[in-house]
Amino acid sequence: MGEEVEVVENKQVLLKKYIEGVPTETDMEVKLGNTIELRAPKGSGCFLVKNLYLSCDPYMRSRMRDFHGSYIPPFVIGRRIEGFGLARVVDSDDPDFKPGDIISAITGWEEYSLLRKSDALQLRKVELDHEIPISYHLGLLGMPGFTAYAGFYEICSPKKGENVFVSAASGAVGQLVGQLAKLHGCFVVGSAGSKQKVDLLKNRLGFDEAFNYKEEADLDAALKRFFPEGIDIYFDNVGGSMLDAVLLNMRVRGRIALCGMVSLQSLSNPQGVHNLFNAISKRIRIEGFLQSDYLHLYPQFLEHVKGYYKEGKIVYIEDMSEGLETAPSALAGLFSGRNIGKQVVRVATD
Ligand code: NAP
Repeated sequence: MGEEVEVVENKQVLLKKYIEGVPTETDMEVKLGNTIELRAPKGSGCFLVKNLYLSCDPYMRSRMRDFHGSYIPPFVIGRRIEGFGLARVVDSDDPDFKPGDIISAITGWEEYSLLRKSDALQLRKVELDHEIPISYHLGLLGMPGFTAYAGFYEICSPKKGENVFVSAASGAVGQLVGQLAKLHGCFVVGSAGSKQKVDLLKNRLGFDEAFNYKEEADLDAALKRFFPEGIDIYFDNVGGSMLDAVLLNMRVRGRIALCGMVSLQSLSNPQGVHNLFNAISKRIRIEGFLQSDYLHLYPQFLEHVKGYYKEGKIVYIEDMSEGLETAPSALAGLFSGRNIGKQVVRVATD
């Protein structure tokens, strides 16, 4: 007689259909009824994990449309979606991973996932540290924090005393960009979509100035108010009309890091940029980047940012949603700016 294997229900989040426009909670479904064996089959090379925390990230919107030309394929309709997560290994057929290990990777939006080293993107073992909340490994020390680090130092080529502007500044990426820029000796202004976020930027995150872009009828005028001498570095998280207004306010030999275009992501017909001639007249370097091209810098990033955090030089704001059932609403909330800080979903605690 073989050993008896425990079988449990595995709650999952599915995408119901490919969507147009801004994602809503009802585009997804929390499905009960699937079962999973709590073991990694012998000879499979897999390991079974219990998902603890899931990360809501704007790039996931691009996987909700039937478009195969991007750097990442669309989700499969009716199948559980996936995203960055933090998980504990429950059983393993891979000698590199043992029960109890905490890992971070692209995992399933479900309670348990069967992963394989060769398929799990951005898989790494997480070293826990009692001074750092575990969920920060999805934010400050995870993909968004790393994006801020790689984007700011590798793309923006910052110099002490320069003028830095960050959009979506209170979010997962933006809040760290601003703090790194301050530590670098820059003058830093952030934009965000509510008074509460603007207050956080100025009072907790140490930005020199911040403004609510939704209350500014003229973005060009707003930028001129905060940067009378112009912008040296723009860390662009939103694209669209903000990018256009920034182009009018860049200084000669300024740098623009194109990190994300969350303002355009849900539009089927995004508007163009009108002020691009400024890139010529002011010799601006505009560079798009993907954090995944810089993973060789991850160890150095962890060392630096952990150090800053432990020394109390940076803080990190997280928005925690409780339970897998809340994941569709937490993800959709990114696209109306409901999240305050890094949006994470707690699926389980142990
Ligand atoms: P986040 O800022 O934590 O959350 C998204 C925020 O975007 C919302 O809170 C909202 O903030 C803002 N937003 C939503 N719709 C908007 C609109 N129509 N116009 C302007 N702002 C809007 O997200 P994140 O994880 O830090 O990501 C920030 C950007 O970085 C995204 O564009 C993402 O795709 C990009 N990213 C790129 C890489 C890469 O490798 N290149 C990696 C990670 C992330 P407000 O309330 O301020 O509007």
